[in-house]
Amino acid sequence: MEMPTDQSVLVTGGAGFIGSHLVDALVADNDVVVLDNLSSGRREWVDDRATLIAADLHNAQAVDQAVDGVDYIFHEAANVSVEHSVDAPVESHETNVDATLRLLEHARNEDARFIYASSAAVYGTPESIPIDESDPKQPTSPYGLEKHSADEYCRLYHEIYGVETIALRYFNVYGPRQRGGQYSGVIDIFLDQARREEDLTIHGDGKQTRDFVHVDDVVTANCLAATHGVPGEAYNIGTGSSITIKDLAQLVVDTFETNSSVTHIDARDGDIEQSCPSIRKAQRELGFEPTQSLNSKLEALW
Ligand code: NAD
Repeated sequence: MEMPTDQSVLVTGGAGFIGSHLVDALVADNDVVVLDNLSSGRREWVDDRATLIAADLHNAQAVDQAVDGVDYIFHEAANVSVEHSVDAPVESHETNVDATLRLLEHARNEDARFIYASSAAVYGTPESIPIDESDPKQPTSPYGLEKHSADEYCRLYHEIYGVETIALRYFNVYGPRQRGGQYSGVIDIFLDQARREEDLTIHGDGKQTRDFVHVDDVVTANCLAATHGVPGEAYNIGTGSSITIKDLAQLVVDTFETNSSVTHIDARDGDIEQSCPSIRKAQRELGFEPTQSLNSKLEALW
């Protein structure tokens, strides 16, 4: 794969789950700066070769320092919690939208390419499956609306100012260093229950579907977006096939031959039933091909 080399790169949220894996991929051949307030990220996940600025996105001086002379901004930092966005929508908006807008201004001033960590949450409850990038956006939480707004700002910054922006709409990302969360937390929970030989608990009937995409594939998508893709566009990033939560639970039980059984508890309010993207646009325009299978990667996580 073609990777950015000899470039000056900023990864916001580079101490977090996805951001730290991206830094790992970029740091050998590029000059990498990480801006992260360490609210959920960890200092020890940041490769020593990267320069860590441990500061908040709202700290103008730190951001000025971080963006100085950069060729690429990979914007991963965010309030990632739907719950927090419901409890504190103004604060969440300030982090997820206002701070992104200010970073886009920096990208404009620095003539940097801006690769944004958008989300499947922009679609809300899909009207049809598989979800296409042009499908209706009906976010069901402040978080989803914030991701949608920032994703739209990316499009507009290209349209109005010519900034090279790419929005990557991640589906359910999983892998090492992931700790719970609404996206793929269920994998952690099932593995943990299976390890303890406890019952695997499913909310509702378990017929909900999700597309779990491994973090290595998401890193690849980001690297591809540095050199490929159409500026101003958004791309679904998943595997293009989904699994029911019931089948995921069974897969965990069968793979690890635990004595756990699968039980059902109350459905969660607002849980989206079906989620599966079409990734044809990313395949066509980014050259993106997911390579990691859930079966083999579950074993690695175990
Ligand atoms: P994460 O919480 O592990 O990473 C976010 C990082 O941003 C953390 O290191 C945190 O310390 C940092 N951060 C948060 N607020 C900050 C602030 N105000 N200033 C500076 N740093 C701040 O989450 P993640 O799962 O790695 O998510 C990365 C990005 O991908 C997010 O933008 C998220 O919305 C998006 N996303 C993730 C998934 C997924 O499945 N994990 C799916 C769709 C979209």
